[in-house]
Amino acid sequence: MPLSEFDLIARFFSDCGARRADVTLGVGDDAALLEVPAGRELVAAIDTLVEGVHFPAGSPAASIGHRALAVNLSDLAAMGAEPAWALLALTMPRAEQDWLSEFADGFAKLARAHRVALVGGDTTAGPLSVTVQAMGFVEPGTALRRAGGSAGDVLFVSGTPGEAAAGLEVARSAHPPQAAAEAAQLRSRFEFPEPRIALGRRLRGIASACIDVSDGLLADAGKLAAASGCGTEIDYEAVPVSTALRTLVGEERARSLVLTGGDDYELCFAVPVAKLAILQRELPTAAYPWQRIGVLRREAGTVVKRAGTVMDFSARGYDHFA
Ligand code: ADP
Ligand code: MG
Repeated sequence: MPLSEFDLIARFFSDCGARRADVTLGVGDDAALLEVPAGRELVAAIDTLVEGVHFPAGSPAASIGHRALAVNLSDLAAMGAEPAWALLALTMPRAEQDWLSEFADGFAKLARAHRVALVGGDTTAGPLSVTVQAMGFVEPGTALRRAGGSAGDVLFVSGTPGEAAAGLEVARSAHPPQAAAEAAQLRSRFEFPEPRIALGRRLRGIASACIDVSDGLLADAGKLAAASGCGTEIDYEAVPVSTALRTLVGEERARSLVLTGGDDYELCFAVPVAKLAILQRELPTAAYPWQRIGVLRREAGTVVKRAGTVMDFSARGYDHFA
């Protein structure tokens, strides 16, 4: 017997993720009742993943559930927020139990890891599309923003961007890749990105500006810079290139993916020179991998420099309507 809408919500989504005392009323009524802790600002973000646009058709259901939440938690991370609640609007062609079970597991596992409760949503039939709204808290006035950087601030990126874009190519390719272990690692970076919540929290009071890298490092660094009324100069030799990425696609292509590939969900942030020592002391790279990639500068626009020479890099990033 096919699952009814009511049954599938009760079975897969009524107790999905963490249980929290600040959820007065969760899934099951017309709306959720949530208690924002006293003295906290509410932070809210929403993102949609459409099959064939944001992930290939036939992607593992667990990955779709994970990513739908991860991309939103990444937005909260970029604000320096502590995640708390999520809403899930799921549109799918059919109600298949195995698919739903894997999807809900992928979502729930990440939700529990970050103490996020799924408190409501909507379930409809149609082409596969997943919208998640995430909410969290921040101590008032301490949220990180894209605006706030100044010319001279040093620009950093966390982790190893570019891997997700290469992983997506692996997932899309019909041919088995040469370096199987590396390919699997990169693929999992696309399918199961880890939002940088802890880093974002710790950057409050240190970073002058922050953005999460979803559309490509150059594009998103450019958005941070523009919001801060600056431009940015990126050092081609300084960007972090992972061994797996280099092994799979070679040095030049790897560096190009680091700069322009999307879907990394790393954080790009600016730090005033006066606070660099605090960054180094309080956020050791062994625990919070970050790498200096350039600076904010007075002149608008993004330039990539290699051995002192400006490179010709198109850095528009992903645009749905371009
Ligand atoms: P309504 O018709 O009042 O919008 P629904 O039948 O759509 O109510 O939903 C019933 C309850 O189930 C609501 O509390 C809603 O938030 C929740 N819900 C529906 N779909 C989902 C989902 N995919 N994930 C989590 N909660 C859901
Ligand atoms: Mg509804």
